[in-house]
Amino acid sequence: MVHPQRFERFSKFSTLVTAVAHLIHVAHSFTRPVQGECQGWHICRPTEEELARAKVCIIRSVQNHCYAEELKCIAKGSPLPSSSSLWKLHPLQDPDQLLRVGGCTAQAGLNMNETHPIIIPGQHHLATLLVCHYHEAVKHQGRHLTEGAIRAAGFWLVGAKRCIGSLLYRCVTCRKLRGKTEHQQMADLPAERLQVAPPFTYVGVDVFGPWEVVSRRTRGGHANSKRWAVMFSCMSSRAVHIEVIEAMSTSSFINALIRFFAIRGPAKQIRSDCGTNFVGASRELEMDKTSPTFQKVEKYLSTQSCTWVFNPPHASHMGGAWEHMIGIACRILDCMLLEENKSCLTHEVLTTFMSEVTAVMNARPLIPVSSDPESPLILTPAMLLTLKTGSTPPPPPGHFDEADLFKEEWKQVQSLVTSGKERSLVSKKGTSFS
Ligand SMILES: [Zn+2]
Repeated sequence: MVHPQRFERFSKFSTLVTAVAHLIHVAHSFTRPVQGECQGWHICRPTEEELARAKVCIIRSVQNHCYAEELKCIAKGSPLPSSSSLWKLHPLQDPDQLLRVGGCTAQAGLNMNETHPIIIPGQHHLATLLVCHYHEAVKHQGRHLTEGAIRAAGFWLVGAKRCIGSLLYRCVTCRKLRGKTEHQQMADLPAERLQVAPPFTYVGVDVFGPWEVVSRRTRGGHANSKRWAVMFSCMSSRAVHIEVIEAMSTSSFINALIRFFAIRGPAKQIRSDCGTNFVGASRELEMDKTSPTFQKVEKYLSTQSCTWVFNPPHASHMGGAWEHMIGIACRILDCMLLEENKSCLTHEVLTTFMSEVTAVMNARPLIPVSSDPESPLILTPAMLLTLKTGSTPPPPPGHFDEADLFKEEWKQVQSLVTSGKERSLVSKKGTSFS
C-alpha cells in the first residue's frame, strides 16, 4: 500500500498513475515472469491493465486514509454516523474495495461508473490532481464543463463546487486567457429549441473566424491563407457541428453544407441570425434574399427539402443561443492556440482543432451537474447524438499486450514523443493511450 502523503509530490494525475503502474510492474516481475519481453521498467510502457490497477490502488489508499471511520462502519454493517461527510451518499464498496456512491440507481445497460461514481475526498491532493486533469481535458473551460467531465469519468468529488472553484481561480492559463474564470449563463429559447426532433433537424448557422494558416505556394499562384468556420448548432439537442471553409464564397459555403448534411443527415430548417457574425459574413457571401448567389444556396437546399429562415433584425433574443455557442467555441480554440506554435497552424491542424472543439462542446453538461446521489448521471449533447454514456467502456476481456498488437507502430510513436517531434498531435495521442 502506497502512503497517500507521497502523492503530494506529483503535480499531474497521469504521471502519478504511470509511476504507481511502474511500481506494480516491478513488484509483479519479482513474483511472476512478465508476459512478453520486458526491456526494463523505464522502457516498457505500463499496460492498460497495469494503469487501471494503479488507479484503483491510488484511490483505495486515499479512501483508506481519509475515510477510515466510514470503512470500519461499512465492514461492520452498521450505519454511518450522521456527522460523516458521506452520510448522504449511502456509500457502498465495489469488488475492488473502492467506496462508491450508493442509492438505488441500478439501471440496466449502464456500468458502475455512471450509476455509482467513485467517491473522492475534496480536500485531498488527489482531488486537486483530478480537477486539473479534467480541467485541461476540457481546454480550460469554466466550472460547469470541468465538473461535467469529472462526473462523466465516474468520479464524485465531495465538496466539488468549492474544490473546482478555488482551483480555477488559481489557474494561470485561465487568467492568461480571460482574466477571470467564466460562468455559463442560459440563453433565451427560440421556438425550435422547445420542439422534440431528432438531432440537427432545426439548425442554427453562423460563420466565425478568420484564422491565418500556413500554406505552401502552389504553381498557379498561392493558396488562400485565411480560414473561416461554419458552425451548425442543433436547436433541440444543443449539439454543434463545425466545418472549416477555405474562402468566404458561395461554393465553399455550399460545400460545407453538403459535408454537414452528409455526416449529420438532412435538416428541415436552417436559421441564421441578423444580429450575429452572419451579417458581415452574409454580406461577403452575398447571402441576400434577392441575390443570385443566395438563390444558388436555396436551390441546393430545396433539393434537400430544407428551408432557410432569416431571423428578423433587432430580434437579438433569438440569436442569444448562437452568440453563446460561438463564444464557447472561441474560448476553447483560444486555449488550443495558446498551446500551439502559431507558425505551425496549418489547415490540417486547424480542422483537427475544430473537431476537438466540437467534441469538448458536445460533452458539456446540458443541465447542472446534480449533487443528488440518486441521479449521478449527466446529460450531454454527445449522449443524445451517439447514444453512448460519458466514460469509456471497459477494455475487452483477455490479455492484450502491445507486443502482440502493434509493436512496431508503438515504438515509432514512442520515439517521436521522446524526440519531441510532432508535439502538437503525437503528444496528445500519446496521453490518450495512457
Ligand atoms: Zn484553466
